[in-house]
Amino acid sequence: MHYLSTRGDATPRRFSDILLEGLAPDGGLYLPERYPRVDTATLGRWRQILATQGYAGLAFEILSLYIDDIPPADLKAICQKTYTAEVFGTPEIVPLKKLKDGFYLQALSNGPTLAFKDMAMQLLGNLFEYELARRGEQLNILGATSGDTGSAAEYAMRGKQGIRVFMLSPHGRMSQFQQAQMFSLQDANIHNLAVEGVFDDCQDIVKAVSNDLAFKRKYKIGTVNSINWARLLAQVVYYFAGYFYATQNDQEQVDFTVPSGNFGNVCAGHVARQMGLPIGQLVVATNENDVLDEFFRTGVYRVRGSADTHETSSPSMDISKASNFERFIFDLLGRDGERSRVLFADALTREGRFDLHADPVFAEARARYGFVSGKSSHADRLATIRQVFAEQGVMIDTHTADGVKVAREHLRAGVPMLVLETALPIKFAATIREALGRDPDRPAKFDGIEQLPRRVLVLPADGARVKALIEQECA
Ligand SMILES: *Cc1c(COP(=O)(O)O)cnc(C)c1O
Repeated sequence: MHYLSTRGDATPRRFSDILLEGLAPDGGLYLPERYPRVDTATLGRWRQILATQGYAGLAFEILSLYIDDIPPADLKAICQKTYTAEVFGTPEIVPLKKLKDGFYLQALSNGPTLAFKDMAMQLLGNLFEYELARRGEQLNILGATSGDTGSAAEYAMRGKQGIRVFMLSPHGRMSQFQQAQMFSLQDANIHNLAVEGVFDDCQDIVKAVSNDLAFKRKYKIGTVNSINWARLLAQVVYYFAGYFYATQNDQEQVDFTVPSGNFGNVCAGHVARQMGLPIGQLVVATNENDVLDEFFRTGVYRVRGSADTHETSSPSMDISKASNFERFIFDLLGRDGERSRVLFADALTREGRFDLHADPVFAEARARYGFVSGKSSHADRLATIRQVFAEQGVMIDTHTADGVKVAREHLRAGVPMLVLETALPIKFAATIREALGRDPDRPAKFDGIEQLPRRVLVLPADGARVKALIEQECA
């Protein structure tokens, strides 16, 4: 399997070539040259594999179609080491919770940091360690986080050979629980840097350091952001697992609703659907930051400025542009790299928007690719959290609530709807208290986490200080 760029660069690359990279050299995103088609017989075989060999067995089958430059026995061992009941809380790894007949939550948030990002990041940690050892190389991961991504990356990379993590976060601005999760890690290869500033300051430092190409090369600076193809690929697996858990035979359709920000999670659903998984609708749920909902309703994709980007109670969906969206548009345009380059490199840079409403392909987003959308507000979240708790006795987090609210607007008689549960309520306790007047449930392993000793360095918002620290650690 070869990978190409959404902006047309077709230099053949294999999985291991792109694993440790971010953007393609032409600024596009990597995609496989084709989506392997899965027929009904294969679906039946995979259903059996999930039942007999578990989630890791299914993951191996799916990953093998896209990764042909890691020996199968090694890839299988990586899957088995990653997807264990010990790490993800249950033998099913991503079990369904029934809300009503035909309406389910798919639990993706029982990994180490209680958000769905663990599903991909835990695999990425093991793939990185394997590939770096094979090459005899080291990697310094530099990232900025406002919460979920940074902690998922740290828990995936802690103690890994050949990898150091330098994670910038805005000092004093993450939730108490998120701070405790990250800063209590005592692993020598994990470096928490609390920057005196806001999230944008952290991100600016990461950009500045990465733009210093000599420094980047010398210190092998890498990232783990959501445009990484391996992360997206890992997420494809749970769409198949959710389908098998919700259905009895391999002809039935299901719909999925996905609380969305950077379009990584739902893009994995698109890949699963293109492979032939019988998904009817892919419902994109946004919060007040409705860049994606606007596109699917109107055909206009308009990135927001920082003044137009709202701070909401589902903060992991607070985006000004959706960094994985280019992958879907590339497919929608019939994989015309030149056209997607014109839209993303020219139109977006010049005008901050593009408009496909008059183009016949726009109708295909729904008719051929199954995409529909909706949005949710703070008041909707509170009402949904209250209602699901009162009626089903299930406590959901704010992001999942956005999903449930929008899913209800797209239910179809006789078709199961699976809402992806993207985080647990304990991560967003203040809004749960606002909705329910009580504290969220806390998994036992996190008892007293706020009292643990902390390993964090507070720094001014100064890229030179961050560089000096990296140099010092690598000396
Ligand atoms: C990251 C995240 C999202 C958004 O996922 P994308 O892949 O960026 O669309 C939604 N909910 C939670 C809890 C997250 O951490």
